Amino acid sequence: MEELSGILGRILKARHGTDLTSLSFEDAIQRKADQLNATDGTLTGFSCPVCHNRGFVAFVKDGNLYSRECECMRTRRSLNLIEKSGLKPSLEAYTFESFQTPERWQEEAKRAAVQYLTDKNGAWLLMSGTVGSGKTHLCTVICGELLKSCVEVRYMKWRDDSVRLKANVNAPDYEKLIRPYKTVKTLYIDDFFKGGSVTAGDINLAFEILNTRYTDKNLITILSTEKTIPQLMEIDAALATRIYERCKGYCICISGESKNWRLRT
Ligand SMILES: [Zn+2]
Repeated sequence: MEELSGILGRILKARHGTDLTSLSFEDAIQRKADQLNATDGTLTGFSCPVCHNRGFVAFVKDGNLYSRECECMRTRRSLNLIEKSGLKPSLEAYTFESFQTPERWQEEAKRAAVQYLTDKNGAWLLMSGTVGSGKTHLCTVICGELLKSCVEVRYMKWRDDSVRLKANVNAPDYEKLIRPYKTVKTLYIDDFFKGGSVTAGDINLAFEILNTRYTDKNLITILSTEKTIPQLMEIDAALATRIYERCKGYCICISGESKNWRLRT
């Protein structure tokens, strides 16, 4: 042990300029862990008092030096996902607390959203409702909760993104453009089929994205729309049945003129 202590001390002295030859082997190892834990890291975006932004914590076990990932890495991953999701500006405005529930249908919608998050059974979610019914609010809150749990989410504003994708359907990089919508862990399509009449191009695009996601059971799709399931059935039965099947009961309808909360305030 004496000998090991001397060897380790010389190594540490050479590397760190500290004379540790007088320390026991265990003390020298612990000193090394302490030195590592006192070093400032270079990670940005979140200031961690535990690892000083290195992302790992050194520790000694059975006389050996190990490192473990710091808890802040989960937060860093989540923040990174929020940044990439396209939802960052909405996440602060939309919370469960800020969703007003003076009426029973609002309470029911909120309860269903909470239940959806609690279930975590890989189901899709369809939130149908008129303008101002709060469907975007609740869907955004759900996406925010998923992002906090480090689940990847991508925001798709149907009206804008679908126009861009349809315009590029014959472009050489079309596959590259559409791939993220097909493969992201959670796709949130806001205002699905909104804007004028639904064309064959809209249906083709929706089917291309949703059928790919339908066949991969690991992928979750969250849709907010003014259309109900019967209306979607009229537009395209194959599409509607796929959505309905993957929603496993989470087709939440909060529609109706009397439920237009935004117009009342
Ligand atoms: Zn940390």
